[in-house]
Amino acid sequence: MKIIAIGRNYAAHAKELNNPLPTEPVVFLMPSTCIIQRNKPFYYPDFSNDIHYEVELVLKISRAGKNVDEKFAHRYYNEIGVGIDFTARDLQKKAKEKGLPWEKAKAFDGAAPLGTFIEKENLSDLNNISFKLNMNGEEVQSGNSGDMIFSFDQLISYVSKFFSLQIGDLIFTGTPSGVGPVKIGDRLEAFIEGESLLNFPVK
Ligand code: ZN
Repeated sequence: MKIIAIGRNYAAHAKELNNPLPTEPVVFLMPSTCIIQRNKPFYYPDFSNDIHYEVELVLKISRAGKNVDEKFAHRYYNEIGVGIDFTARDLQKKAKEKGLPWEKAKAFDGAAPLGTFIEKENLSDLNNISFKLNMNGEEVQSGNSGDMIFSFDQLISYVSKFFSLQIGDLIFTGTPSGVGPVKIGDRLEAFIEGESLLNFPVK
């Protein structure tokens, strides 16, 4: 399986990092070795001094497809979860300055902790899903799927032009504003519609 991740999908977050609003989705890939599950700890890597959290809604692909039409895109995912797209902001800044790829900043081991998934049918309105991230019990990020620049269906249609979707693939749909650094000893807890689905320490 692979992880397809979207950057700058919330206007306020693009702004806080001084990025222009995208006219098409910003896409990058992460390998399966990014995933941490079952609330296992995230180990702060020694190659960065500026790891940031980014909480994101995550789609789980349930059907193989390529060149998926936007109007059929909803048939290609059945579960929604919440995950963290950990980013080595110092490495990302260097890569951006030099126009180099982002993998070392985004796709390192453990960069994508994943919470429990919810059946899509159990969410009343996919265009109005609230989610948030607490750090050490204090809210640091909150978002709503209605504020995405590109909707779930638009993202599936777009990314499937380039990357065939396979069952079990994940799409990280972008982070709202409020990203910030973590340090060893922090605890992160992520929620969808007030339900705690992910809760792990940084070690
Ligand atoms: Zn992200």
